[in-house]
Amino acid sequence: MLLTGMMAAALGGCAGASEQSSGASDSARAEIVVADYPLQYVVEQLTDLPVANLTAPGVEPHDLELTPQQVRQVQEASLVVYQSGFQAAVDDAVAQVRPDGPSVDASASFEPLTTSDGVDPHFWLSPKNLIPVAQAVAAQLSDADSEAAKLQAFTDRMNKLDADLRDGLADCQRQTFVTTHAAFGYLARDYGLEQVAIAGLDPNNEPSAARLAEVRATAEKTGVTTIFYETLASDAVAKSLADDLGLATDVLDPVEGVTSASRGDDYAEIMEANLAALRKANGCR
Ligand SMILES: [Zn+2]
Repeated sequence: MLLTGMMAAALGGCAGASEQSSGASDSARAEIVVADYPLQYVVEQLTDLPVANLTAPGVEPHDLELTPQQVRQVQEASLVVYQSGFQAAVDDAVAQVRPDGPSVDASASFEPLTTSDGVDPHFWLSPKNLIPVAQAVAAQLSDADSEAAKLQAFTDRMNKLDADLRDGLADCQRQTFVTTHAAFGYLARDYGLEQVAIAGLDPNNEPSAARLAEVRATAEKTGVTTIFYETLASDAVAKSLADDLGLATDVLDPVEGVTSASRGDDYAEIMEANLAALRKANGCR
């Protein structure tokens, strides 16, 4: 496997083709390694090559740690698709074990949104941000491994989702929504909404009492109907806040992983469910 990985690295963009022509070799065909679910979704829309996700389903991707076996996967992959600045362990592995191997850094493909917490990593929550990432991935795949039609179909799907969000959120009684962690900054920016997050960019950080008081005051002032929680993070704070204020709760999913609790089987379906939840909470026509 190591030899296969090194050959693939040496052959750069032709990694896919070299894997194919190696045919009956004793090692399995090298896989594409992705760092998290949104990137897995992009890659799987473009190719039938095997894809391995470093973030297991149901595991929250912030603060991911890699096992030695996963570092070896990064080394041996035909292509690595990751997002620098989001998961430090992946950044370190890429720098250490495949500094020159074929890789796509999604962070090179979108305009970063900066908050008081730092750069918001959740670029995928505005669907059109995924299109340049898909283009960068497709450019690394051989023609045999990704037909142009697949990139076109993916682009059409993301543009349709973008239009659905724009139309669906254009005429609402309220623009403010309250979420568990600050994952929806790109969505709020691109569709004219105001995000109020209980926790910051990382869901593992506990909100302070002062932050909770602020969120409570904003919720009362703006007349929100709903406190949103997530499928992969604790819903305890959201539910107790909603209880105190006499408000509803609902799921707004940052699509950081798909499980049986998700309201859809893939990114596009979950984003449509997010749109429906926002429309209901904000009284959109
Ligand atoms: Zn997040």
